[in-house]
Amino acid sequence: MSVRPILVAPAPALRAVSARVEAFDGTVAGAVDDLLETMRARGAIGLSAPQIGDARRIAVIDPSGDGAAPEAFVNPRIVARGRAYGFVQESCLSLPGVVASVWRDTRVRVSAQDAQGRSFERDLAGLAAVSLQHEIDHLDGRLFVDRLGALRRWALRRRLGTAAAPHDGAPSAVGQ
Ligand SMILES: [Zn+2]
Repeated sequence: MSVRPILVAPAPALRAVSARVEAFDGTVAGAVDDLLETMRARGAIGLSAPQIGDARRIAVIDPSGDGAAPEAFVNPRIVARGRAYGFVQESCLSLPGVVASVWRDTRVRVSAQDAQGRSFERDLAGLAAVSLQHEIDHLDGRLFVDRLGALRRWALRRRLGTAAAPHDGAPSAVGQ
C-alpha cells in the first residue's frame, strides 16, 4: 500500500478511456489499496485509477471525508438515475485551484464489482452519488470542467495549474 503521485492536467493519461478490468488478480486489490491510501493522504472524498497512472476502470469514494466509510468500485456503471439533481460545487486533484459548479444527479444506482470480482449494486445519494459520477467521468477521460459551458471554461483557463485543491470531486455543498 502506498501513496501515489496524482497526475495533473493536461497529462494525456487523464484524457484516455480506461480499460474494463477482466482479470481480477492481486494487482486490482493493490490498486484499490493505493487509491484508498492516496485519497486519505490528500484528504479527498474520491479518486480514480487514471489519476495515479493506472488505466483501468477502478474508483474509490469516501463521502465522509475522514476515512470512515471508503468504498471501492471496479467497472462501475450507472444503471439508474433518480429524479433528484443539484448544481454542485466540485474540485479535482487533477485540476489544482479550479472550483466550479456542475449539474449532477444526486441519486443513482450503480452496478460494479469489488476487488475480487464479485458483482454488486448500490444506491447512492447526495455526496456519494456526485462523487462517484465525477470519478466515472475520469474513467471515460473526462474532467468536470468539460461539463461547463464554453464561456465558463474560457474564464477558468487562466486559473488552471495554480494552487492545490483539497478535494477530488468534492462539493462544498450539494444542491437540493
Ligand atoms: Zn477529479
